[in-house]
Amino acid sequence: MNLKKTWWKEAVIYQIYPRSFMDSNADGIGDLQGIIRKLDYLKYLGIDVIWLSPVYESPNDDNGYDISNYKAIMQEFGTMQDFDELLAQAHARGIRIVMDLVVNHTSDEHAWFMESRKSKDSPFRDYYIWRSGKDEKTPPNNWGSCFGGSAWQYDKQTCMYYLHLFSKKQPDLNWDNPKVRREIFDMMSWWCDKGIDGFRMDVISMISKTKEMPDGETNGLYGDFSPYCVHGPNVHKYLQEMNEQVLSRYDIMTVGETAGVTAELAKQYAGEHTHELNMVFQFEHVEGDGKYGKWTDQKLPLPVLKKILSRWQTELYGEAWNSLFWNNHDQPRAVSRFGSDSPQYRTVSAKMLATCLHMMQGTPYIYQGEELGMTNYPFQNPQEFRDIESINAYQEWCTNGRLSRETFWPCLTFKSRDNARTPMQWDDTANAGFTAAKPWIAVNPNYKEINARAETNDPDSVFHYYKKLIALRRQYPVIVYGKYELLLEDSEQLFVYTRTYENEKLLTVCSFSEQECSFQIPEEFQNASCIITNTNNLYQNETLKLKPYEAFVLYTCH
Ligand code: CA
Repeated sequence: MNLKKTWWKEAVIYQIYPRSFMDSNADGIGDLQGIIRKLDYLKYLGIDVIWLSPVYESPNDDNGYDISNYKAIMQEFGTMQDFDELLAQAHARGIRIVMDLVVNHTSDEHAWFMESRKSKDSPFRDYYIWRSGKDEKTPPNNWGSCFGGSAWQYDKQTCMYYLHLFSKKQPDLNWDNPKVRREIFDMMSWWCDKGIDGFRMDVISMISKTKEMPDGETNGLYGDFSPYCVHGPNVHKYLQEMNEQVLSRYDIMTVGETAGVTAELAKQYAGEHTHELNMVFQFEHVEGDGKYGKWTDQKLPLPVLKKILSRWQTELYGEAWNSLFWNNHDQPRAVSRFGSDSPQYRTVSAKMLATCLHMMQGTPYIYQGEELGMTNYPFQNPQEFRDIESINAYQEWCTNGRLSRETFWPCLTFKSRDNARTPMQWDDTANAGFTAAKPWIAVNPNYKEINARAETNDPDSVFHYYKKLIALRRQYPVIVYGKYELLLEDSEQLFVYTRTYENEKLLTVCSFSEQECSFQIPEEFQNASCIITNTNNLYQNETLKLKPYEAFVLYTCH
C-alpha cells in the first residue's frame, strides 16, 4: 500500500508539562523562559515537535486545564512576549510547537462563564449547559464527574445547575451554540496566525452532548455520563466544521485526546480522508487495568497488552494514523508501570519499552523525563498529592470508608497523575536543578542517580538510547511506513513483531520478562543486521537466550 507521506508521520513528539519542566526565576514553578533554556537539550535529543501542555491564563484548579483566558499566558509561566520568543527560538532550531487546546470546558473564572451565570437571559447564558434540578436539592440527573462528586453544580444566582464533566471549576461549553463554535474557531485561527504548528485537543470526544440527559447506569455512587457525552451526536460534524474553517487553512498537525475511542471510531476521527483530525490518542492499553474505577496496583498481562496494541496497528493501517505513547501527564511513569523501576532493571527495561513503542507504526510521543527513565514517586502520605483527581479520590474512596487505606493506597500511588508531575531531573544539585526555590511539588529522591546531566554524559544511558532510536527513524522509512505483523501472539514473555515496507523488513524483539527466555530467530532474519540493542548480544545464532528485558531490532533488505 502506498501511504501518504507527511511530516507529522515522520516526527517524534516531546510533551512538556511546563509547571514541572524548568524554573527560570526561582519561584518553584516551571515557566516559558525555563523551556527556552532547555531547547538545546531537546535539539540534542533530536525531537521534532514539542507538545506544550496548557500555558494559558488559569486559576490552576486543574493545572492549566481550566482556562480563564485563551489569548493570555499564565502569569506564573511568563508573558506573551516570552511565548513569542519560545516559538521563535524553537523554530530557529527546527522544532515545531503544538499547543494544548482545552475547549470542552473553560474555567468558571472565564469572562464567558462569569457573564453566563449572572442571569437566565444573559447573552452568554447559552455558552454553557444549564438545567433545573429535579427539585431544589437534587441535580438534574445522577451523573458523576471525572474528578469525583456530581457532574452538576448548583448556582444560587439563578437557582439552576451547570454541567461540569471535570471539576466544578471547569464548566462544560455548549458546542451546540454556533456562537461558541465561532469564538473557538476564531481563537484557534489567532494562534495559527502566530505561527504555531498544531493542536493537541483535550477530551475532544466529549464536546457534543445529547439533548436528553437521563440518569446513567451506576456502579455505586454516581451514574455514567459516557453514553450521552462521549462521541456524542454532533462530534464529527463539529470537527469537520473546525477542519473546514481553521485546520485545513494551515500547515499544522492535530491530535485528539479521545477517551473511550475504538479503532472503528478512530477511522472517522482521524481517517486519511474524513477531514477531521490527523491522529487520536487511544487509551485501551492504559485503561484496561483498573480495579476500583481507574485505580489499580496491577500490570496489564502482556498478552492483553499485545492484543490491544496490535489491533490498533492492524486496523488503522492505511486508513488512519496511530499515536504511540506509554505515558503522559495523566499516567504513571512508563518504566514503573510496564517495565521495572528496580535499580537492577530500570535502565534495561526503559530501553526495552522505548524500542517496543518506537518501532511500531504511528507517531511516537515522549513524555518529559521518559527519555531518562524517570520513575514513579515513593508517596508516603496523602499530603504529598497536588493533583485534584488524586486528592478527591483519596477522599472519596478512603476517608469516606468505601475501601480500607491498606487496600486503596497501593492503587492510588501506582496510578496517581502526580507520578508524572514531579519536577524534571536535570542534575544532581539541590532540587534536581529544576529550581533554586522550594518546588511546587516534591522532587523524586532518586534524582542523584537519575538526571539529564549524568545521562547525557553516559553513552550507555536511557537518554542516548532514545537519541539513537530517533536517529534511526530518519534513516529507515520502514520504521515510519512499514506494515505491522505480530508474531508469537500467546507468548507471556516476548513482544515480537515485524514491519515491512517495499524491500525492507524489520524484526523487533522485546522481552517483558525478568527471567531469561529463549527465542528462535526466523529464517529470513538470520543474516540480518542488528540496528539497535539494549544488551551486548550479537544475534549470530538462530537460537538465543534473551536476558531479562532484552530488546533488539534486526533489519534486512532484499
Ligand atoms: Ca518560575
